[in-house]
Amino acid sequence: MTDCIFCRIVAGEIPAAKVFEGSKFIAFLDISPANKGHALIIPKEHYVSLEEMPDEDGKEFGELQVKVAKAVMKATNAEGFNLLLNDGKTAGQEVMHAHMHIQPRFSDDDFHYKWTHKKYEEGEIEKFLEEIKKNLE
Ligand code: AMP
Ligand code: ZN
Repeated sequence: MTDCIFCRIVAGEIPAAKVFEGSKFIAFLDISPANKGHALIIPKEHYVSLEEMPDEDGKEFGELQVKVAKAVMKATNAEGFNLLLNDGKTAGQEVMHAHMHIQPRFSDDDFHYKWTHKKYEEGEIEKFLEEIKKNLE
């Protein structure tokens, strides 16, 4: 038996408020929501990181994010939403099975998504663009 809580949800060993099940992904409500209606989309396969997910599964994953986000918006009458994927401990990942958060937002909620904006030095942005383009090939 696995000790991955999300694999156990996929296997039906522990309950979840499942809103969608397909062949490769499931979506269910986060048990400790940032706001009520907060949903998670996970691959059925145990990938710790999105980097392990085959590129071709990205199509279904992306489509599902659009569909579930629209449904969460309608169901909650939210004013906006955030899609958030914490990938890696450094990025705040606590459950080590890849998952996308869909978080409905309200103008009076208590979120603090903030970072300081950095500046590229002269010529530096070109280096990043070249490296990223190379790795997309
Ligand atoms: P993260 O920090 O991105 O790894 O987020 C993990 C999320 O999983 C948190 O928002 C938890 O509330 C949620 N979570 C943990 N256990 C369960 C569970 N059994 N059912 C639903 N959501 C869960
Ligand atoms: Zn897992």
